[in-house]
Amino acid sequence: MKPDRKFLRQCISCKEYRKKEELIKITKDANNDDIKLNNDSLIQGRSVYICKNEKCIANALKKKKIENSLKSNLPEIVKEELSTVLKK
Ligand SMILES: [Zn+2]
Repeated sequence: MKPDRKFLRQCISCKEYRKKEELIKITKDANNDDIKLNNDSLIQGRSVYICKNEKCIANALKKKKIENSLKSNLPEIVKEELSTVLKK
């Protein structure tokens, strides 16, 4: 049986579909355009997902995939947070 894509999210880096738990969620807040890590989904806004692995995060940062998807600059703090996620 194929996984039901309704419940899956696509990584913007490798384009694989995965469960939400396996991804990092980054959201541009609809209220103030702040870009934040949003794994508990408390922020409403346009979101992108990236696999929790070094390759996908490094690739997304290098190719500015997050910036392009959210049409905003990625704050340094978010880049630092992404690096922190990898070290956990
Ligand atoms: Zn990925």
